[in-house]
Amino acid sequence: MSYFENFMKANQAYVDLHGTAHLPIKPKTKVAIVTCMDSRLHVAQALGLALGDAHILRNAGGRVTEDMIRSLVISQQQLGTREIVVLHHTDCGAQTFKNEDFTAYLNKELGVNVSNQDFLPFTDVEESVREDMALLRQSPLIPADVEISGAVYDVDTGRMTVVEE
Ligand SMILES: [Zn+2]
Repeated sequence: MSYFENFMKANQAYVDLHGTAHLPIKPKTKVAIVTCMDSRLHVAQALGLALGDAHILRNAGGRVTEDMIRSLVISQQQLGTREIVVLHHTDCGAQTFKNEDFTAYLNKELGVNVSNQDFLPFTDVEESVREDMALLRQSPLIPADVEISGAVYDVDTGRMTVVEE
């Protein structure tokens, strides 16, 4: 039995709350947020965002990858965003392993050789935010005048702390 049935039930109630809206496709704040998939981080609530306000791009760790850049280019060049926030968090799953151990584990468990793949783990969460802000700055696909901010979200308190570039 999958959990999916519960989602379908919950959605029935949500539809009543939602009502019918015709929000524009372009985010109102013109901001794209690059963040982690962590289940303890409710980005919209933590940042005071409503429907239609911002793009929220998530992956494991909230890392700036090739696919994250792909989404940002569409966000900016097709959908009008002009600002990026890199938001990592405390107690991240990307801090729980090293590439060598993880790739060895995957080789054993799944029989797949991924020894040359970087799963982008990190140890220092402020450093990972700075690294990813730097990657965005260096990317020729991100215009130089795009505002880039960074922060760390504390999963225990909900507080965000600014990380300077
Ligand atoms: Zn995380």
